[in-house]
Amino acid sequence: MRNKLSKLLLLLALVSSLTFGPARAAGPTGADGLADPLFPLLGNGGYDALHYTLDLKPAMEQESLSGTVTMEARATQDLAAFNLDFAGFTIRQLTVNDAPAQYTRSTHELTITPAKPLKMGDTFTTAITYDGSPETSSVDGIETGWRWYNNGSFAANEPAGAAGWFPVNDHPLDKASYTFRVTVAKPYVVAANGLLKNTIDNGDTTTYLWEESKPMASYLATVDIARYTMQTDKSPGGVAIRNYFPEGMAPEETQMYSRTREMIDFFSSIYGPYPFDVYGVVIADTELGFALETQTLSLFGRTRSANRRVGQIAPEEVVAHELSHQWFGDSVSLKSWEDIWLNEGFATYSQFLWLEHVSGKDALDSRMRGIYRLLDTQRGTGETGRPDVQTLFDTNLIYLRGSLVLHALRMHVGDETFFNIMRTYADRFRYSNANTADFIKVANEVSGQDLTSFFQTWLFDSKLPAIPEIGLSPSA
Ligand SMILES: [Zn+2]
Repeated sequence: MRNKLSKLLLLLALVSSLTFGPARAAGPTGADGLADPLFPLLGNGGYDALHYTLDLKPAMEQESLSGTVTMEARATQDLAAFNLDFAGFTIRQLTVNDAPAQYTRSTHELTITPAKPLKMGDTFTTAITYDGSPETSSVDGIETGWRWYNNGSFAANEPAGAAGWFPVNDHPLDKASYTFRVTVAKPYVVAANGLLKNTIDNGDTTTYLWEESKPMASYLATVDIARYTMQTDKSPGGVAIRNYFPEGMAPEETQMYSRTREMIDFFSSIYGPYPFDVYGVVIADTELGFALETQTLSLFGRTRSANRRVGQIAPEEVVAHELSHQWFGDSVSLKSWEDIWLNEGFATYSQFLWLEHVSGKDALDSRMRGIYRLLDTQRGTGETGRPDVQTLFDTNLIYLRGSLVLHALRMHVGDETFFNIMRTYADRFRYSNANTADFIKVANEVSGQDLTSFFQTWLFDSKLPAIPEIGLSPSA
């Protein structure tokens, strides 16, 4: 039965590709993935995306999207065909360098055959006009992508949700700058990454033009729509802040964001200058159960407990956590999703550094001891430096142990060297990508020690190592 069925399916697949498929591209084809160990089909090979322009018209009542997305890219090899990641929607028009191009689609892959093959080094423009309903995908129980709620919508893509609302080379390895031109019915307001360049009154609708000129990973792209009130501020050090709060949000609710200005300057003082032109938060007028460090504009839900699986901690710490990701995650991005501790361990330790900043050394010490005891009691398996898809956002393995790795490093090399390591790493890989080996290399270089075995035991051994400097060792 099984055998027969599979033969039938194979036959159907062959028939359908013979009947409806295009002629196979003659010549070199870009890879359909970037061989990420956890998500091999995310991203695509053969080109480097330079800039995306998302010209979108969300229909808020119908919960549908239409628009045109343009990608400017440079071919890194000769290409007779190349892929984008894109799920759902109906494609109405697709051109490469203004000439209609052939394409095929599978669930997540869009394969494009330009009328004229591309040569290595060519820059080219792909424009795709589409409409329909965004598709969400789920990782670790959290639905990602574009989501609607009662009075608005938000987009939270980590790790693979971007392709559910726009065609994209969907991997942090291929960062690009972005323009968002989003038209909505009045009185909706659109917030997105970067700087608001223009607001155009079209009568019944408004077009918001947003620009993120710094390189951005696709999972950090966001468009958030609601009846927002914008509030501006500036850090004492001069970083511009714009926050988007749902209309009528009470001061008690906005309170948790009020120290953002001080936090920006605090993290700038320990990690180096804030990497982007602007910062702020956007609050989706619904309960999220997580927060996300969308570039220059962190996304939160409308609850005091808006936190990303970090347990029972003060909301202000979550605000510090997402802000610190602008250095670690957004400016310095992952080379592979396996390196997620470089995002989450760093941001979790950063929120504890904020705790230390406002409450003192003893507060940090007792927090880290508490985490050590918790991890000693709840002994899990798995490697912090090599999670699988199921443990990618695991609180104990990634967030807490990741933060403990940095605390142990600090205790081992001392404050001055530790913060020097963090600053050097943030600076060397600014607007770029790094992996665990890159971080270890910086730590070795800056400390003048060989810390390879230190990191080996902390990141690639599930046993909890001791922190002898502060008298912590695992119970028998
Ligand atoms: Zn985080």
